[in-house]
Amino acid sequence: NTSIKPTLHDLLKTHFGYDAFLPNQEKIIKNVLNQNDTLAIMPTGGGKSLCFQLPALALPGTAIVVSPLIALMKDQVDALRSNGIAAAYFNSSQPQEEQQQTLSDLQEGKLKLFYVAPESIFLLENTLHHIDINLFAIDEAHCISSWGHDFRPAYTQLGSLKEQFPQTPLIALTATADSATQDDIAKQLAIPNAKKFIASFDRPNLYLDVRPGQKRIQQILQFLKSHTDESGIIYCLSRKSTESVADKLLTAGYDAKAYHAGISSEERSQIQEDFVTDKTSIIVATIAFGMGIDKSNVRWVIHYNMPKNIEGYYQEIGRSGRDGLPAHTLLFYSFADVVQLRKFAEGTPTEEYQLAKLERMQQFAEALSCRRRALLGYFGEHLQEDCGNCDICNTPPTYFDGTLLAQKVCSAVARLQEQEALGMVIDVLRGAQNAQVFNKGYQNIKTYGAANDVSWRDLQQYVIQLINQGVLEIRFHENGRLILTPLAKAVLFENRKIYLARPLQKKEEEKTTIDV
Ligand code: ADP
Ligand code: ZN
Repeated sequence: NTSIKPTLHDLLKTHFGYDAFLPNQEKIIKNVLNQNDTLAIMPTGGGKSLCFQLPALALPGTAIVVSPLIALMKDQVDALRSNGIAAAYFNSSQPQEEQQQTLSDLQEGKLKLFYVAPESIFLLENTLHHIDINLFAIDEAHCISSWGHDFRPAYTQLGSLKEQFPQTPLIALTATADSATQDDIAKQLAIPNAKKFIASFDRPNLYLDVRPGQKRIQQILQFLKSHTDESGIIYCLSRKSTESVADKLLTAGYDAKAYHAGISSEERSQIQEDFVTDKTSIIVATIAFGMGIDKSNVRWVIHYNMPKNIEGYYQEIGRSGRDGLPAHTLLFYSFADVVQLRKFAEGTPTEEYQLAKLERMQQFAEALSCRRRALLGYFGEHLQEDCGNCDICNTPPTYFDGTLLAQKVCSAVARLQEQEALGMVIDVLRGAQNAQVFNKGYQNIKTYGAANDVSWRDLQQYVIQLINQGVLEIRFHENGRLILTPLAKAVLFENRKIYLARPLQKKEEEKTTIDV
């Protein structure tokens, strides 16, 4: 290349010291440099920050970065400065002098990156209109959506950025957006034409295992026998269970420590440090543990209780096997946990979303087809093959050729114009004679009653399997209506074979006490 301008690779090398881009980084950066809006979905550790930091350096002017947490801003700014890049952050908790200094640097065009909390950005509206902004980057963009797992009301104001700065490219970044959240982010930020980049969320080295949540301590002790001297994390729902599980493991001779928000921060740092340096091998924690912990050789993660949504589950299992070597993840599923989690969600402002997400988590735990396909399907990534590295692939249930049934279901979904939720689809297939069906005239469609030989419960299980296999998708944010995926079209028109598992007999799930 004879151009005098440094190439992207030069910038990557000189400013960040890296030789190559991680997957999707280069494509995203080019899209930004072409002045297009961008939605970047990348798993944690995928290298999101570089996607706006490098364009900020490549373009004249300043990039405005919106970030939800002071700690995150501070970390990034420190790292940038240590690479000699002019960056600063602004938030309401800073001393006034520091704020003034940062603002005058910003006004004088001295900063390449300016980090700001969503609450503060509109306080600076005037200033922003008088400086040269090359890019807006919205980090942790799922915070804008009630469908995201971490809704921040202040984020919703960011929708007006595009209106105020129509010429400035905007990039939204997140690690944890299911497809409903992705759509919502683009809508709320008013970037309907944003190009979407989704890096693969697959972590093929993680073995995905789900077992019934009975006699959990006994099962854990059994599990640990084949995982001696390995580091691992056990996640529990309550502080009390972290203490009691840690105690039981200690009694059994394992060096386990409880970790939760009720422990003093010095003690927590000590526990983290001992874990990172392999002095403690097992941490029994509430979800507070693991954020920002850099430990590559965590060999297993156990969920003593079911997480409240798939995003959380994915993030927590993702803390194992970062070195790429095999790691075992084990989820205990009990109906009692579902009941408990429902109670937590009820009466909160986001109850509806939380319950919908909980239901998806439950469907994952009850899945009778490849777990990885179900997990990735949730994020809108559809694997074509079973993974071979999960409990279901390992010990498959009995399958039958369910192609005909799958065709009936897909055809019903199509004839219902992809407008109806699971319950109605099943009612129609079973030829239910109820008012909802009759009011809409569904008794006249061709697939009405096409599966009246299958019980309601079994049919529900089959439809969930079709969702988990990526044949259908649930649009949560649109009343949970079912829609067809490209795979469904193959089922309908190319005779693609589908295998379904025979539903297992219902186990003793009705117990509603949590056995610690
Ligand atoms: P995310 O925000 O997606 O979790 P980060 O932006 O924090 O990820 O990046 C994760 C890690 O990867 C960081 O340690 C970062 O320095 C590193 N990283 C980013 N880009 C590259 C690259 N091109 N080559 C090597 N390492 C990279
Ligand atoms: Zn599998």
